[in-house]
Formats: sequence, structure tokens, C-alpha cells
Amino acid sequence: MQNMKFARVEVVTLVLCLLLSIAPTMARAQLGGVIQAPIERNGFRVSTSYDALQAFLTALEQVPFMTVSTLGTTPEGRSIKMVRVAAAANEREPKLRIMLFAQQHGDEPSGKEALTMLLARCASGEYARHLRAVELYIVPQVNPDGAEKDQRRNSRRQDLNRSHLMLDAPETIALHQAFLALWPEVTMDIHEYGSSGAWTRAGMMKTGDVQLGMLTNLNVPAPLRDYQRAKVFPFLAEAMRAKNYSFHEYLVGTPDMYLRHSTTEPNDGRQSLGIQGTLSFIQEGKNAGNKDSLLQRRATSQFISIDALIRYCAQHAVEIKDLVQRERELRTQAAGQPFVLRMNHVSDGRTLEIPVRTVPGGIDTVWSIHPYLSVVHPTLTTTLPKAYVVPRALASLPLLEGHGVQHEVVHTPTEQTVQRSMIDSVAYEVVEEDSVLRVYAHTVETTATLQPGDIIVRLNQRQSYLVATAFEPQSLWGLVKYPEHESLLRSREFPILRIP
Ligand SMILES: [Zn+2]
Repeated sequence: MQNMKFARVEVVTLVLCLLLSIAPTMARAQLGGVIQAPIERNGFRVSTSYDALQAFLTALEQVPFMTVSTLGTTPEGRSIKMVRVAAAANEREPKLRIMLFAQQHGDEPSGKEALTMLLARCASGEYARHLRAVELYIVPQVNPDGAEKDQRRNSRRQDLNRSHLMLDAPETIALHQAFLALWPEVTMDIHEYGSSGAWTRAGMMKTGDVQLGMLTNLNVPAPLRDYQRAKVFPFLAEAMRAKNYSFHEYLVGTPDMYLRHSTTEPNDGRQSLGIQGTLSFIQEGKNAGNKDSLLQRRATSQFISIDALIRYCAQHAVEIKDLVQRERELRTQAAGQPFVLRMNHVSDGRTLEIPVRTVPGGIDTVWSIHPYLSVVHPTLTTTLPKAYVVPRALASLPLLEGHGVQHEVVHTPTEQTVQRSMIDSVAYEVVEEDSVLRVYAHTVETTATLQPGDIIVRLNQRQSYLVATAFEPQSLWGLVKYPEHESLLRSREFPILRIP
């Protein structure tokens, strides 16, 4: 068990109350090492409730370099808050923006606790040096309705971390609106993982304190994926080891089947931002099976990794900004570029060792994973068109507005040379151990009359790869996989056209 260092602040349980009543300049003067997160004030016994979080965030409004805003409101009327932490701006040299968000899944509180610990340290002035290079945008609790019920989903039973492409939940709409407005270069989505069921049946459980997931979708710029793996991951791993926490790359699957680095689907908080050219991560802390058990270790281990990410970004701010800017610029020149329609996880012969505990027995040991589906390979590719023509019936798709996709409306009937996808057959194939729709199609070049109300979505924009993911009929993770868009496959002629 970790020997915590937060006892130094045991005298300050009243500081937040005090902070509420003093002027901002006084607050700055009072900040040195005195502010605690709610969970620290209660000795890591109870996870932070919605009301306690709101009180803490309200107190932070007094800190001169912190701004608290409301991103949106949940179906049950709770606020989704974001805290901006930024020193004075320098227009000529804008800072690297890092957006951190947690508790999309209501029953995974430790990420929120870690972010309140981060906020407390920021308010105490501990990050002043890093704030010369970076700005932080911190959303501690994306799903307050789910959190209050200690349930994964929101109050409409939606899994928010499957809603990032279609944007059919108010919580993810709010998050993506903030993302688009801020356009941060780095993001991290913070979760918790469980280790029971098939794992304990196979005689072990994962014991890594924190798993870090990187981008795996092949339509995310390769230089971003390479940078995460080669540069960021080793830095965070070392920072965790230095504090005696175990850390490894994010793995899902089960010991009796396969293990892989989670999904390539861009409907989660990692790939949906990555495909827009963001250095985007997911982090998963180890759950304890109960929201209040082992909170000190859970919250602190998540915090140490987040702190390491901020330190890495502050030290390499210019390098990361240049890298992301370059790749985002290329996103706006997507026409004619290759696009991976389908991909799957395969083994490249490597093995990976992760910390596990035997069940029964309780012996901590290391398990060498085999088979380990370590890499993602393309199984079908295409070349991106100049634009898509979307029929009027689909023109109000929430994903277009929610992702800020630029488009033009057709006003008068217009003749246009197009590529029309002809559906040859539809089947299912197993991807990520799930049965997934597989469309077989070919394209024919023809002339079509675009009708008033149809829309043209050009690929000379930052959302180009996200748009192609949704609109290509053979796309593994496209509109066609969603039951509400079954009608797209009703006719042999796919209704979304390509302009070559
Ligand atoms: Zn989760």
C-alpha cells in the first residue's frame, strides 16, 4: 500500500470555506499548499458526491487563474462543469491545450477524484511552472446522473462512451462542443476497469494500478500513434514505477480468448478525438468492486499518471503543438488520400507481460500473454472522394451539427458526376469478438441530379476522416451498423453519394 504524502495538509479542512469568503487577490496569497480535494478532506473514505463536487468547484471560482463554466445540463438537470486552469495568455505564443475528462461511466469515480486532486494542487500554485507552457481544461464528471446512482450509464440508460460518433446523449454533445470550441491538442478520458468474471474463472485477475490506452484506429494519423507509443507511454510508465505503482498498456479481452488494446471504434472518448488529429488517450484505473474501497490507492495512482502526462506535455509543448498542427492540416486535404474501411487486431508474434494475482491463492505474479493481438491491420481500404452528397432525409443527422461538420445545402436541382455505391451483399463477420455487419459493395460512376435540401459535405475540413467513417457503406464503424440507419441498406443503391 502506498504511503501517502497528503497528511501534510491535515490542518486545512476549513480552507475551502475560508476561500469562499476572501477576495481573489487574497486567495492567490493564501494558496501555497493549502487546498485539498474533498476526498483528501475526508481521508479517502468516501467518494465525492455531486453536491460536494459542486461546492469544491464553486470555491475554485475564487482562484484568479481558474475559470469554472457549465458545459451542459444532464437529463435530470445536473450541471456538467469544466475548469479552465491557465496563466496569463500570450497571443504570439499560444499554449498547448490539454483537456482531461472523467466519470463518463458513473460507477467509475476514481478518475474524478484524481482530477479534483489535480485541481486542488493547481489552486495551491503547484503547477505554476507547467502553466507557462500548457493550459488545462478539466471536466471531472461527465455523467453526474449515473454517478449519483452509482451506475455505468446515464439516466436514459445510454452508455456515454459509445455515443461519441453519433452524439445522441446531452452529456457527449456538451463535451464535444467544448472540444470543438477549444480544439485542444491533447486529451485524456479517464475510467476504471474491473478484473473479474472470465478472468477469475481463468485463475487470475489483473492487478495493474493503471492501464494507459493509446490510439489504435488506423485512420488516426500514424505520427500521433507512433509519438504516443515511443515518447509519452515510456515517460508515464517510468513516473508510475518511480512511485511504486504498476502500469501497463490498456488491454481488454479475456485470458481464455484473446487480449488486444481495446477497440478501434471511433464512438468512444479516445478514438473520436484521435480521428480529428488529437493526441488522445484513455486511462483506466483498477476498480475495487465498490465505489468507496481502496480509494486512496485508486485515486492517487490515477493522479500520478495524469500528473506525469501534464509534466511531459509541458516539457514538450512546442514539439506536440507542431506535430498536432501538421497532422490536423493534413486532415483538411483528405481527398485522394487512402482510408481504411475495415481493420482488425492481429498478433505480430510479440508477447506482453502484465502483473496478475492468482485466484484462488492470491499470489502476485506476472502473466505472459499469449495469444496477444498486439497490432491492428487494415483488411479493406479505399481512396477518399472530394465530397459526399447526403440525401435530404439524412441532412439533420445530429453527428453533423454535433461535430461541427461544414456542409452546403443544395438549393436547385443540379446535375453532378458522382460515384454511387452498389450494395452487392450484406453479411456478418467477427471483429473484436463481436458479430459486426459486413457490407460488400462496388462503385459505379454516373450522373445524378442533386435535389433541393440534399447536402454536400466536402472533405477539405478538419472532420474529414470522421465524416468518411460515418458515410462509407463498407466502413466497419459507419452509420450502417446502427439499427436506426438500417434503411440505408434497403435499396441496392446506397443513398450517400461520393463526388470523385
Ligand atoms: Zn469506463
